[in-house]
Amino acid sequence: MGKSEWLIKEAEEKMSITISKSQLGIILSKLKVFTDADLKREEYPTDAEIAADVLWNAFMNKDIDGKVVVDLGAGTGILGIGALLLGAKKVIFVEIDENNITVLKENLDSLEGLEGHDPEIIKGDVREDQDMEGVEGDVVIENPPFGSKEKGIDKEFLSRAMDIADITYSFHMTETVEYLKGFIEKKGFMVSHRWYYDFPLKAVHKFHKRKIHRIKVSCLRIKKG
Ligand code: SAH
Repeated sequence: MGKSEWLIKEAEEKMSITISKSQLGIILSKLKVFTDADLKREEYPTDAEIAADVLWNAFMNKDIDGKVVVDLGAGTGILGIGALLLGAKKVIFVEIDENNITVLKENLDSLEGLEGHDPEIIKGDVREDQDMEGVEGDVVIENPPFGSKEKGIDKEFLSRAMDIADITYSFHMTETVEYLKGFIEKKGFMVSHRWYYDFPLKAVHKFHKRKIHRIKVSCLRIKKG
């Protein structure tokens, strides 16, 4: 058995996990995605395989099992649902768009075995203090808008995440990471891990000519102190 297999086996035994990483990817790939994507809000769903990879890494870092996880800009819920499947104690989904929340609820209802995990859905704007009152957690997981349509929104998501939790997993365009690192460090946080992905932006928008366009994205694990 290789070292990573052994580590996975050990984690499975310790945390009594019932699914493997590839099973997680398969379940997540079957979830529904946006019905009528809003381009201005950069509504791009996270690819199931990438979501499974990030969630698995978070699980191995002991950031999921038994934790309260907040999914900011949850969309149709892939990240938070994956966290629930990996044993999060509770997931709080925050999403601004009512249509996405409808699909998110359908996705939650479509899965068996989530009973007792206590998902909470908040319809709200991550930027508004009022909407975010009382939203607290151990870990934030987010694939926020990258800020190419609405300048600065990626920073607003990051800032909110750092107010909510000591640990955040956040996706960003690779070319913006150096700049964002400065912002993160000013808030007294640091980037402890970084994973690189070629992010497929699927043609959920009808005027996209190419079927799949890929962009370079990094997922950062951000930690207080
Ligand atoms: N987390 C999902 C969706 C990513 S797309 C996934 O990984 O698949 C970004 C999401 O953020 C969209 O669903 C969009 O509606 C939502 N969003 C954009 N601006 C927001 C805001 N200000 N407050 C809350 N949600 C927002």
